[in-house]
Amino acid sequence: MAKFHTLKVAELSRPTEESVAVTFEIPGDLREEFAFTQGQHLTLKKEIDGEDTRRSYSICSCPIDEKLTVAIKKLEGGRFSTWANEDLKEGDEIEVNPPHGHFYVPLDPENANSYVAFASGSGITPIMSIIETTLRTEPESEFTLFYGNRRTGSIIFQEELEALKNRYMGRFSLYHVLSKERQESDLFNGRIDEEKIQGYARRFFDPESVDHYFTCGPEEMMLAVQSELKNLGVPEDRIHLELFTSPVGKLGGKEKEVKHEKAHAEITVVLDGNSLTFPYDSDKSILDVAFDNGADLPYACKGGVCSTCVCKVEEGEVEMDVNYALEPDELKRGLVLSCQSYPKTDKVKLNFDV
Ligand SMILES: Cc1cc2nc3c(=O)[nH]c(=O)nc-3n(C[C@H](O)[C@H](O)[C@H](O)COP(=O)(O)OP(=O)(O)OC[C@H]3O[C@@H](n4cnc5c(N)ncnc54)[C@H](O)[C@@H]3O)c2cc1C
Repeated sequence: MAKFHTLKVAELSRPTEESVAVTFEIPGDLREEFAFTQGQHLTLKKEIDGEDTRRSYSICSCPIDEKLTVAIKKLEGGRFSTWANEDLKEGDEIEVNPPHGHFYVPLDPENANSYVAFASGSGITPIMSIIETTLRTEPESEFTLFYGNRRTGSIIFQEELEALKNRYMGRFSLYHVLSKERQESDLFNGRIDEEKIQGYARRFFDPESVDHYFTCGPEEMMLAVQSELKNLGVPEDRIHLELFTSPVGKLGGKEKEVKHEKAHAEITVVLDGNSLTFPYDSDKSILDVAFDNGADLPYACKGGVCSTCVCKVEEGEVEMDVNYALEPDELKRGLVLSCQSYPKTDKVKLNFDV
C-alpha cells in the first residue's frame, strides 16, 4: 500500500447543496502513482478538531481526462463530510492515499457489451466514472442506469448525467427513481427494491444478456439488487458491489466468525523498507497494536471495507474477522487487511510495501 501524499485542492464545486466535488492538483512526479481505473477510490486524511480523521471517497471523474475528482456528500453529524462541505477551500492541502479498489471490469474498445447499474445517493460517484469511461472507451457498448434519490434537488451529477445522455443517445439510458417527489410512473416512485428491479428487468433489460451489473448505495438497496438479480438467473460474478460502510447484514456472504486463539506473538511490520518488531499481547487487531507501538501504518475505515490497510503476510499466519474488500486471488497471494487481522502463529511478518 502506497503512503499518503499532500495534495492541493485545485477546484471545488457543488453538485448539490449537500455535496462538494473536490478536484486535486497532481504534481508531475506523482502522476503515475495517482493514475486510476474507473470505479477506484482515494483515502483522504485530515486532522479535524485535533483528531486524525481518514475517510475513503470514490473517484467520480473519468481517467481519460487525467482529472482526479471526488464528491463528498454531507452527512448529518459526519465529521469528515461536514468539514469538507463547510470548511474546505480551493488551495487547501489534504493528505491523500493513491487510488485503489476493484469496483470495475476491464474495458476493451472491441467489446459490444451491455451494462446495468443501480445507484442511490452518493453511491453514484464510482458509477459516474464507470459509465463515462465505458461509453468513451467502448463505442459499441450500452449502459443503463437506475438512480435513486429523495428528490430532484438532491440528485448528484444530474446535469452531467443529462449531458452524457445527450452525447451518447441510444447507448445510455437513464432512469431516476425518487422517494420524496412523485413522478408519472409508479415504477420510478419510492426506493429501488426487489419489486422495482423485477419491473425494470421486464421492461428495460434482459437480465441474462447483460454482461455486468454495478451497484453502490445503501446496504438495503445493494442487498435487493444482489438477491433479485440472482433470482433472475444472473451469475454472481457479473454482479459488482461497492460498499461505503461495513455492512450490518451479510452482504456478499463474506462475513466470518473468528475466535482469536493467539494472545501472544511477535509481530514485525515493514513500511517503506523499514521494519519494526513488537510483542503482541492483546485481543486487538494487529493494526491497532502496531499503532500502540508507534508504527504509522496506512488505514481508514477499520471495518474491512476500504482496503487502505492492505499488506502481505511474509511470515507466519493471521486470521481475519471480516473481509469486504479483497478478492480471492489477492487472498491467495497472501494479502490481508491488517485492521481485521489477528496472529495465528508465534511470529508474524506483514509487509505494507505491496
Ligand atoms: C470505498 C469507499 C468509497 C466511498 N465513497 C464515497 C463517496 O464517493 N462519497 C461519499 O460521500 N462518501 C463515500 N464513502 C463514505 C465515506 O468514506 C464516509 O464514510 C462518509 O463521508 C461519512 O464520513 P463522516 O466522517 O462524515 O461521518 P462519520 O463521522 O464517520 O459518521 C457519522 C455517522 O454517519 C454514519 N455513516 C457513515 N458513513 C455513512 C454512509 N455512507 N451513509 C450513511 N451513514 C453513514 C456513521 O455510522 C455515523 O453514525 C465511501 C466509503 C468507502 C469505504
